[in-house]
Amino acid sequence: MASTGFLCEVVGHVRSESWTYLKFTLVTSDGRARAGIVETDHGSIETPAFMPVGTQGSVKAIEQRELVEIGAQIILGNTYHLYLRPGADLIQAGGGLHRFINWTRPILTDSGGFQVFSLNNLRDIDEAGVTFKSHLDGSSHVFTPESVVQIQRQLGSDIMMVLDECAPFPCDLEYMQRSNARTLRWAERCKVAAEKPGPLYGHSQALFGIVQGSVYPEIRTQSAEALIRLGFDGYAIGGLAVGEPAELMYRIVDVCENVLPTDKPRYLMGVGTPENLIEAVSRGMDMFDCVLPTRNGRNANLFTRTGDINLRNAKYKADFTPPDGECDCYTCTNFTRAYLRHLFQAKEILGLQLATIHNLAFYLWLMREARGAILARRFPAWKNEALQRLNSKKEDTETVST
Ligand SMILES: [Zn+2]
Repeated sequence: MASTGFLCEVVGHVRSESWTYLKFTLVTSDGRARAGIVETDHGSIETPAFMPVGTQGSVKAIEQRELVEIGAQIILGNTYHLYLRPGADLIQAGGGLHRFINWTRPILTDSGGFQVFSLNNLRDIDEAGVTFKSHLDGSSHVFTPESVVQIQRQLGSDIMMVLDECAPFPCDLEYMQRSNARTLRWAERCKVAAEKPGPLYGHSQALFGIVQGSVYPEIRTQSAEALIRLGFDGYAIGGLAVGEPAELMYRIVDVCENVLPTDKPRYLMGVGTPENLIEAVSRGMDMFDCVLPTRNGRNANLFTRTGDINLRNAKYKADFTPPDGECDCYTCTNFTRAYLRHLFQAKEILGLQLATIHNLAFYLWLMREARGAILARRFPAWKNEALQRLNSKKEDTETVST
């Protein structure tokens, strides 16, 4: 574990009293695309980075040792789900989330805001926070900015997120203005809460702010500027990939990128497809999470360098080639499309596991390739070629026959 003394020496700003801490080094950029290193007490994350989603303390259908094997440097945990089950007190009793799930690398926890605001009829928002009913048993709970920081402190994540309101899309301008003003007041309360009690487990826990503002450039700009004035360890862009067209999402990313400081990591939340990630990297984003590789994998949909394939399609019945012939993951070096298709048809658990290993390995590979291209200063050429290849076999997703 790195000592605070060492970290303070090499960072531009010293926060000697704070237990929230993170070091980000921008190694190089190519255009707006950035290669960097995020350092936490549980290890480094090379950016651009994809973060597998481990909602309930488990990345679905894949073991921790396999995540290490495919090169995952950080995973996500979900505050809402873990708070409801098994509960923050139990995880604290188990030594924190790292020890409870036996994951020694960095963990980022979201604030639970996104899940709570997805509950629609099950929640009520006011200045104090948000009251919601558990999707498990209907019991009533309250998240405040202070309580979500306290829960994440108990979880012991390396990167905590502020409580924010994730507005739906579309969202009218007047509502968004009111919502954003409240989200900024909540961000300030989170920051104050994060500066008080100190860490539970001896390692630093950074706090990221979340830029909101739907598809309104002026609100996005105001949101980013206000968060920067408060000063966070990193900045996330939330409220995108909620149904808006991709071009609009890219435009809003551009707006935010124009304001966000270069010396802090930028996390584009909940995005996206391989194409989305490449476009976002070219727009200066550093960190990503998305359920697509795991969820689609469990639905027999595999990402490959030449586009998606759905193994339920009859044309793979006797296809004895690997899912992705260029991939060096355990699945692709040992098994065929025909075998995976058979596993899915027979509803064997192994099918979900092998598909998940490959899809996550593919996303992690994609980000390593992007990083390599940025470091070699050939990112634009790499981007063009990668996008061209991803679109070269679109017909694979057209018909699905079982
Ligand atoms: Zn593979």
